[in-house]
Amino acid sequence: MVEAKRKQKILIADDSEMNRSILADMLEDEYEIMEAENGVQAVAAIEKYGVDLSLVLLDIVMPEMDGFGVLMVMNEHNWIEDLPVIMISAENSPAYIDRAYEMGATDFIVRPFNEMVVRRRAVNTILLYAKQKKLMGMVADQIYENEKRSNMMIDILSHIVEFRNGESGWHVRHVHTLTELLLEHLIEKTDRYGVSQADISTISMASALHDIGKIAIDEKILNKPGRFTDEEFEIMKTHSAIGGDLLRDLPLYQDEPLVKCAFEICRWHHERYDGRGYPDGLKGDEIPISAQIVALADVYDALTSERCYKKAFSHEVAVQMILDGKCGSFNPLLMECLTDIADQLPLELSQEEILDENNRRSLHNVAQEMLHHAELTASERTLQLLEKEREKYSFFATMSKEIQFEYNASPSILTLTPWSAKKLSANEIIAEPRKSDSVKNILGVENWEALSAKLRGTTRENPVVTHDCKIDFQGEHRWSRIVAHAMWTLEEPHEYQGAIGKVIDIHDTRLKLDVLEQLATHDRMTGLLNHASAKEQIVGRMAQKPDGAYALAIFDLDHFKMANDTYGHIFGDQVLQHTAEKLRQSIRGADIAARVGGDEFLVFLEYTEDLEPIIERIFHALTGRFEEFDISVSMGVARADLVGTDYETLFHCADQALYTVKRAGRGHYRFYDDSMDKMLSVISPIDEGEN
Ligand code: GH3
Ligand code: MG
Repeated sequence: MVEAKRKQKILIADDSEMNRSILADMLEDEYEIMEAENGVQAVAAIEKYGVDLSLVLLDIVMPEMDGFGVLMVMNEHNWIEDLPVIMISAENSPAYIDRAYEMGATDFIVRPFNEMVVRRRAVNTILLYAKQKKLMGMVADQIYENEKRSNMMIDILSHIVEFRNGESGWHVRHVHTLTELLLEHLIEKTDRYGVSQADISTISMASALHDIGKIAIDEKILNKPGRFTDEEFEIMKTHSAIGGDLLRDLPLYQDEPLVKCAFEICRWHHERYDGRGYPDGLKGDEIPISAQIVALADVYDALTSERCYKKAFSHEVAVQMILDGKCGSFNPLLMECLTDIADQLPLELSQEEILDENNRRSLHNVAQEMLHHAELTASERTLQLLEKEREKYSFFATMSKEIQFEYNASPSILTLTPWSAKKLSANEIIAEPRKSDSVKNILGVENWEALSAKLRGTTRENPVVTHDCKIDFQGEHRWSRIVAHAMWTLEEPHEYQGAIGKVIDIHDTRLKLDVLEQLATHDRMTGLLNHASAKEQIVGRMAQKPDGAYALAIFDLDHFKMANDTYGHIFGDQVLQHTAEKLRQSIRGADIAARVGGDEFLVFLEYTEDLEPIIERIFHALTGRFEEFDISVSMGVARADLVGTDYETLFHCADQALYTVKRAGRGHYRFYDDSMDKMLSVISPIDEGEN
């Protein structure tokens, strides 16, 4: 199996799970991600993982304890010197940023952020701190290396002793551990002996030499299986004094605490609290505390180990024997310590043996595997969170009874909420909306394209557009306003990604607007265009297509006054409305009909074939009977190809033709020609007189 490279750990502290997940997704390829939901959890994680952490990404606003609170705790414990912190926050006021830097933050990233920036800054910060750590590590390594060598020398020395004594090979180690444990517990109970942490380390290390004097004892006695004779026992007892002498006679290091301590231990680790030990018969605290502790540790380990002269006692039996005073008397305080830590002794001692290098390696492998599994699930979690968001969104969308949609530009997919899809009788997912029948039926392709063009024309700063059009709600076409928010990528150059939007019903408002518009442009009684807007449309039409063949016809009811006079004004109105209706029916969609005023109307038309039959048809449609009144009209027609496309001229000429008809007896139509101007200019004074 190829061993995976161990990843550095980053702690992300943010109360939004979504934010944490997004950051985790950005960084988890290269780093192992730890997470905290608030400041308190962040502090706990920093305390737990300590130097294993390479970076903290810290949000400011969080429940329980905010980001500044975390920085404060990190300062109090001096963690901030070893662990870099990058603040990530939407709060970008200078006061916040200054405060963060003052409290030791390395960097400040303002939300919304760019993925590359976050990754780059995280990597840089970690590298910078790693360099610093490496330098410090090199110094520490040197110190450690020296200490390791001393330990090694002591281990070798004590192993030689053990080897000669036929001991298990673990005795020295066990005494070391027991000494350490007893001392740690003792200083919790009392400061009577003035033992510091440094002393604990010295005493534990020196304990390894407690039996060094045995190198002077004959091997036959050392390894005798049965009981010692009195004489043999006396020889055996000399090992403590010899050990003491060996150390006292060392030519060097006499002032070293380690050597002094080792001397005490070697000489007096067989003294007993009641004064009945050897070699000096010291009593109570005359015996240095180091020797008292090692004596107890030595007895305990001797009892629980197998020796050539005895079997091993169980832990419980051994402790009980010591407490019962069967192995000599000990300091009552140390008896208390032994009782207090008795339960943890077997585990502590066995762990020493279990945790060899092989085990360490297999533990490492298990950890790696667990880590790998965690990486795989991180992205899945983001998907799950997004799915949850989608569910929430779709619930609220349904509750709101609004048509809501999402559009993804590439690939081109329009997604409707389930409720919207039902309301519009469409599928929830519409691929290629521009080509789909759904979009064609719902709003028409031209509206879809107009909306798309508006969205593409936005910027990231101003992404919202509106588009008004009629939308088909299950057969009912209602005026609607589409409000959409274009989505652009965060990275520059910003790319159009699609949009989200909703549809607002503006049907009633829009209809009112239509009515107002109608009022301004249409004649209220007949519903035809008024003259002003007809003129506007006609001018527009001719400008848009100057090469078309156009004609303008004006007609006036004959003797309309009579209808009014005979049947009343209301009847007169009905005649006008009837005429307007006949006019509407007789023209084509593109023609423009209007009421010029009074009983005078106009028709503007574009013709491609012969004009006269068209005029003839309209003229006859208008002529007829409305109830008791015979409707007759006089009509004049002017052709733009003859008189020009200037509206005033066109109108004037048609009017001249109409006038000519009136003059000639009414009830027919005529096309304008040049002769009319001359004729009219001759007869106009008479006309004036007639009117
Ligand atoms: P001519 O054959 O010369 O056209 O004679 P006429 O009786 O039709 O008279 P003219 O066209 O000169 O006058 C139109 C009349 O139409 C004048 C006015 O009393 C009447 N009139 C104008 N507007 C309205 C209207 O809105 N309702 C009604 N009932 N009558 C109107
Ligand atoms: Mg008239």
